[in-house]
Amino acid sequence: MKKRILSALAVLALTATAAFAHGDVEIGPNGGRVVDLGSKAPSAEVVLQGSNFVISLYDEGAKKTVPATAAQTLSIVHKESGKKLEPKLVDGKWTVAKPDGKDFWLILTLKDDAAGKGRTGRLHYDEAVCGDCKNPEWICKCAEQKKAKK
Ligand SMILES: [Zn+2]
Repeated sequence: MKKRILSALAVLALTATAAFAHGDVEIGPNGGRVVDLGSKAPSAEVVLQGSNFVISLYDEGAKKTVPATAAQTLSIVHKESGKKLEPKLVDGKWTVAKPDGKDFWLILTLKDDAAGKGRTGRLHYDEAVCGDCKNPEWICKCAEQKKAKK
C-alpha cells in the first residue's frame, strides 16, 4: 500500500516538473533565460552571444543584473556528456563556449566562495522553434507575453 502511494506521488512529481518546464520560461533583462538557483537570490541569466553563453547574476527582487564577485565561482556541467565546461569570469559575468548540439541540459552551480555551499539550477537548451512566439523554446516568450497581457 505504502509503495503504491509513493509511486503515485512520483508520477505526480514528474507531471508537475514537465508542466513547469514548458511555458514557464522566464526571460531576463538581457533577453536571456533566467535559471533559478534556489530560494536564495540571485538567479543566473544565460544569454547566447554568437557561439558563447554569457552568464550573469540576476537579482529577481530588485529586477536587475548584479555583477559577480571574484570570490564567486560558477561550475557548469553538460548533462548528456558529463563534461565540465570552463566559464571565464570577466567584468562580473561568465563566458563559456556553447557546447555542440541543439538540445541539451546544463547544470549550473554557483558558490559564493570556495567554502560556500553550492546552489544549483538547470537549463534546458532547446533550439526548436516555438510555434506561438517563433523564438527558440529555451527563450520562448509566451509566458512573458501572457504576463504582460494580464
Ligand atoms: Zn513561445
